[in-house]
Amino acid sequence: MDISYIINELGEDRENYFNAVAPPIIQTSNFIFNTVADMRSALQDEYSTYLYSRGKNPTVDILAKKLAALDGAEDCLVFNSGAAAIFAAVLANVKSGDHIISVKEPYAWANKMFTEILPRFGVTTTFIDGTDINNFEAAKTNTTTLIYLESPNSWSYALQDLKAIAAFAGQHNIITICDNSYCTSIYQRPIELGIDLSLQSATKYISGHSDTIAGVLSGSSKMIERIFKSEYNNIGSGIQPFNAWLLLRGLRTLPLRLEKITASTNTVLTYLKSNKKVEDVFFPFDDTFPQQKLAKQQMSSACGLITIILRDIDLPGIEKFCEGLKHFKLAVSWGGYESLIIPRCAGVTTNNFNGLIKEHRMLRLYIGLEDAAYLINDLETAFAAIT
Ligand SMILES: *Cc1c(COP(=O)(O)O)cnc(C)c1O
Repeated sequence: MDISYIINELGEDRENYFNAVAPPIIQTSNFIFNTVADMRSALQDEYSTYLYSRGKNPTVDILAKKLAALDGAEDCLVFNSGAAAIFAAVLANVKSGDHIISVKEPYAWANKMFTEILPRFGVTTTFIDGTDINNFEAAKTNTTTLIYLESPNSWSYALQDLKAIAAFAGQHNIITICDNSYCTSIYQRPIELGIDLSLQSATKYISGHSDTIAGVLSGSSKMIERIFKSEYNNIGSGIQPFNAWLLLRGLRTLPLRLEKITASTNTVLTYLKSNKKVEDVFFPFDDTFPQQKLAKQQMSSACGLITIILRDIDLPGIEKFCEGLKHFKLAVSWGGYESLIIPRCAGVTTNNFNGLIKEHRMLRLYIGLEDAAYLINDLETAFAAIT
């Protein structure tokens, strides 16, 4: 299906809403039935009808049709956060006694689920370096039911060979989940590579304007219907109609925004690589990136996030650099219009900071929609103030 068709038309039934170009926000909690028989059948199968907006809602449906098609998936669910999508996807596929293999250092709240919540219910997780397929084989036990992936990782950009892992998991009846937030379905489609469930934080590029928290979970109709009828409705964390409408609005310009961000990211990357105050630069499509070949194989492009290591080993210098930036704002998240910076040292207590540890000098830049020259100027000024 053509991306332009998906974004501009798919799921939109304009004759049903006065031929309005923009879809309506059906801000309702419940839906009315004319007969008891209709109500009875809706109660029996909430997946196929409108009953109550914790389940299905027309505005959310328009969005879900588009997001599933973009993922090359049969169906999807849209959540009120990426974290909720992760929680539902994992919870729906484990029971007491099961074992999960996860890539090391997945998204922080996925990590917390694996290390703090699931063990309380008898589900254990082994974290592995996912860059080597052999590690999956080695970690597998006879109770492994789930493999959790995040490719690329949003700090180190470590990748997993999605096709190979999907094939391995398929042989052993193991469900695979991949966090695709870095790429979005515009740059990578895990489902098409054989992954069972693909999820994204829609808060990032899909919303694109730093004003909505949301998440997407895509997969087969069978799997999605099962999750809808249990975890989705039970956790009660489906997206609200207004937020779904904001995502529809964000989607209209998603490819355009990614195009601009990709171009600017490359310009800023070239600048950072030439800067003597930068010790190391990490970017999946860069020639120096150890998994560049795999990145180019399974992703159609890369953009937005660049991780650098400053040469300055003093905490005050690193802090001065971050605070010296005027246009790169000091904030978590990414994917919006505004450029951002987040230093690893913000997650380390000042007592524990050690400039000799490379990781402590790590900074992650997000390149927003500003012009590259405007951003490079900002970086120049901040670099000039440190050694
Ligand atoms: C932000 C993020 C999430 C969580 O999404 P929320 O919308 O913030 O709940 C999950 N995975 C990755 C890689 C993220 O960056």
